[in-house]
Amino acid sequence: MITGIYPGSFDPVTYGHLDIIERASKMVDRLIVGVLVNSTKTPLFSMEERVRMIEDLTRNHGNVEVKSFGGLTVNFARECDATIIVRGLRAVTDFEYELQLAQTNKVIAPDIDTIFLTTNLKYSYLSSSTVKEIASYGGAIHEFVPEEVEKQIKLKYKNIK
Ligand code: ADP
Repeated sequence: MITGIYPGSFDPVTYGHLDIIERASKMVDRLIVGVLVNSTKTPLFSMEERVRMIEDLTRNHGNVEVKSFGGLTVNFARECDATIIVRGLRAVTDFEYELQLAQTNKVIAPDIDTIFLTTNLKYSYLSSSTVKEIASYGGAIHEFVPEEVEKQIKLKYKNIK
């Protein structure tokens, strides 16, 4: 039984993340999406909201679970009995940071491997922060996130303004 985790902020989840979840879930027996509780960043969506959105969108994937976590990713992987950390790579700009992270994790947890899935070309430019920025100026985001997420983002910016 191979368990993988897919950690990230997912603030909020985009089609780019969902594509990685879909593909990674076919490679492992159990995939746990780990929503990071990051104390240094103030997210647009609460941890509960981010978890719920991903849960709603992955309901039809039988082997995908969603959990929140804080602290070291490798500790979360251990708690989940996972041996694989999945990360997505969009562009060269992601690479340096991701390589450093993967190598550090390998030193502190030699039994856990990081695997990278290259982005679907359709979503190579896509990030949660870009989506939020466009939405904050009232731009269209339906090509980047599912309808339900779009509604939630719009609601947030309506309440903030
Ligand atoms: P973090 O704050 O850890 O970077 P994100 O929520 O931004 O978390 O992303 C989580 C993971 O998903 C990262 O590995 C990131 O590279 C990947 N990712 C984000 N957007 C995309 C995308 N459009 N295509 C492929 N992978 C992506």
